[in-house]
Amino acid sequence: ILMSRNTCTFETHNPEETRNLARHLAPRLRRGDVIALEGDLGAGKTTFTQGLAAGLGIEEPVDSPTFTLIKEYEGGRLPLYHMDVYRLNHPTEELGWDEYFYGDGVTLVEWADRIEPMLPGELIRIEVSRHQESDVRKIRIEPPAGETERICGGLGRLDNHET
Ligand code: ADP
Ligand code: MG
Repeated sequence: ILMSRNTCTFETHNPEETRNLARHLAPRLRRGDVIALEGDLGAGKTTFTQGLAAGLGIEEPVDSPTFTLIKEYEGGRLPLYHMDVYRLNHPTEELGWDEYFYGDGVTLVEWADRIEPMLPGELIRIEVSRHQESDVRKIRIEPPAGETERICGGLGRLDNHET
């Protein structure tokens, strides 16, 4: 783990390590948190989301909502609203984003930059990036201002190697 003033960065070496990191992030989340998840196709965004759901105590399997735009998972410590807005070329206001963002659960948005104007000001930004063709992923977490300790504090006590 690399801690800078307000981000923490991890390296994972397989999908299970990525899920594990997200599983450890989950207990730190609270209602109204919005995670803006960035990364290329196949980077590991949905894999990360699977670990997050598991960490929230959601037992239902999480898959890619590419064709449904949003999937809601109840039954965990908090509801999880999982969005994939890859197919949205024009962010429209009519979708009622704020009911999710300011709702009772945690919202996670894959390809969040496509709806940047709709996003709330306070975001947990997470970027997953690939190292060449290998299974190594760099995962950079940028908490909202003043929330670094809540989100990053102690997260480094995982098996993930330092970057
Ligand atoms: P995205 O949602 O970003 O398009 P997915 O999570 O659907 O990506 O797919 C990631 C793919 O990469 C999966 O096939 C997964 O098994 C594979 N993979 C290999 N190494 C990793 C890693 N370190 N972390 C996450 N996924 C990995
Ligand atoms: Mg995905």
